[in-house]
Amino acid sequence: MKQVISLSYGEVALKGGNRKYFVDKLMKNLKQALRGYETDRIYQDRTKFYIECPSEIADEVYEQARKVFGFVVSSRAVVYEKDPEKLADQALEYVSAILEKDPSIRSFKFEAKRNDKKYPMKSMEINPFLGGIILKKFEHLHVDVHNPDLLVRVDIRNAIYFYSQKEKAAGGLPIGTTGRSVLLLSGGIDSPVAGHMMAKRGVELVAVNFNSYPFTSERSDEKVLDLARKMIPYIGSIDVHQVNILPIQKAIRMNCPEKEMTILSRRFMMRIAERIAKEQSAGSLITGESLGQVASQTMEGLHATNSAVSMPVFRPLIGMDKTEIIEIAQRIDTFETSILPFDDCCMVFLPKHPVTHPKLGQIEHSESVLDVEALLDEVMESRKIVTIKKDR
Ligand code: ATP
Ligand code: MG
Repeated sequence: MKQVISLSYGEVALKGGNRKYFVDKLMKNLKQALRGYETDRIYQDRTKFYIECPSEIADEVYEQARKVFGFVVSSRAVVYEKDPEKLADQALEYVSAILEKDPSIRSFKFEAKRNDKKYPMKSMEINPFLGGIILKKFEHLHVDVHNPDLLVRVDIRNAIYFYSQKEKAAGGLPIGTTGRSVLLLSGGIDSPVAGHMMAKRGVELVAVNFNSYPFTSERSDEKVLDLARKMIPYIGSIDVHQVNILPIQKAIRMNCPEKEMTILSRRFMMRIAERIAKEQSAGSLITGESLGQVASQTMEGLHATNSAVSMPVFRPLIGMDKTEIIEIAQRIDTFETSILPFDDCCMVFLPKHPVTHPKLGQIEHSESVLDVEALLDEVMESRKIVTIKKDR
């Protein structure tokens, strides 16, 4: 009896002619996610992926593997050699082990699936056959086809797999299959969630974080890196570009209306992100904005920020309530880090009464006194790049 971890992919299976590309990428991502673990074998058996590893690390490997985007269902299974003669003994061994762990089980049901159509017994024959074997051996059990205490799935592939529990895995598409994007990652609750959601759709992320050092602290930069670290179990690795925008904020403060400070700096943030995107062959930007959440996230505010760039800007949280965003942040384990205190560059020179419904023409007019390109060049000059990846 050999334990394995089993993973099924979802949408990837729908990709028709591109399926091989998606499946290969999924295997590559899985192997990368499990680097550092002493797994024995990672392999495919028809449409499922399997991992064999020493039992001491199986729980940890399982939790990591099911976070790889592209897998929809995960389970702990037992694998046997495919030999019809041995099937009854295999079922007995499997069920006995489960009963030993949980003696309260009273009812059961078999659900066989024959992926290998050449296998001599049909699913409909296997179920009653194995049911009979179990009933004979364990007289206190009975079959319950509707609501069994124990549902034993028998999956016939190149080998035979028995499993009883299955769980939802991360879902989505393998990272790297839908392109690369620059995530504007602040230290708050929203942007890590936004990044996570796009990564789930197969996007490879590059992050940019803005600071106003020395007005913001080094500790705040660290916090953002900690947040990026929290995203790693799902995304594998990420480069965080740190850009000090203080020179830009100073120029805006000196030359533009105070109430436009936030919108004008946000336009610069977008431009910097777009520059990084072009340099990194990324095709879009991602922000954690949600309509109406704060003064700069009104429709006019979003229009004004958007207009500074020509790349598509994805805002996966646009229609979500804060409570819904927090739920995801808790589930993906970024929340606790996000709510730690930090000083954000948006707080520097924060206007008392920010414009909430800026007119693009007015904003562009205010901005026209600035040498945009020179300012961008200046802040890009001092950019730092930190690569975050698993430390195992
Ligand atoms: P978050 O919780 O993600 O910080 P927020 O509700 O605080 O979002 P804003 O501060 O208006 O909203 O920022 C909106 C979006 O702009 C953020 O979700 C993020 O994508 C980007 N952003 C804001 N500040 C920064 C920063 N210092 N560095 C990088 N991106 C930022
Ligand atoms: Mg913020």
